[in-house]
Amino acid sequence: MGDDIASIRSAIRDIPDFPKPGIVFKDITPLLGNGPLFAKTIDLMAARYSGQKIDTVLGIESRGFIVGSALAYKLGAGFSVVRKPGKLPYETRSASYELEYGRDTLEIHIDGISPKARVVIADDLIATGGTAKATAELVANLGGTVVECAFVIELSFLKGRQKLAPHRVYSILQYESE
Ligand code: AMP
Repeated sequence: MGDDIASIRSAIRDIPDFPKPGIVFKDITPLLGNGPLFAKTIDLMAARYSGQKIDTVLGIESRGFIVGSALAYKLGAGFSVVRKPGKLPYETRSASYELEYGRDTLEIHIDGISPKARVVIADDLIATGGTAKATAELVANLGGTVVECAFVIELSFLKGRQKLAPHRVYSILQYESE
């Protein structure tokens, strides 16, 4: 288990100054490209929710689609998406959240979550937690219950976990600094 986590960590590539100066981008494509490690990543997440009667995994655009859909398949759950504005074709609900400069908005189909559905929110990474918090608001708005928010990577020093409280946060890898 410890060895698996160390292997997953070693497959994350740091890209300094992407997409802008001062950001260290955590690139998961080497992890996704490694079959056994990608499978291990999803298996670790799925083990946490087996027996928890998860109805829907909700993936956040865009890398949350990759992690979330694999997790949904493994759990035998449905998969639903949260997207940037204007991408979803049917009627939507939206939630806005603060960015470093300005605001951003996320949308979900009005039938993306069934009332009373037990939902796991999935993304590749939690930084400040703003994206996941807005996503959790959309779940509540549609009458669902957020069982937990699951990430491959948690940038712990940005305290997204605290921002998401009282929602629960699970991450496979934690980074205490950039
Ligand atoms: P936040 O709302 O601050 O928690 O940001 C989380 C979202 O931004 C996720 O969808 C991530 O994929 C993306 N993100 C934020 N910071 C990084 C980073 N350092 N490396 C890769 N993705 C990031």
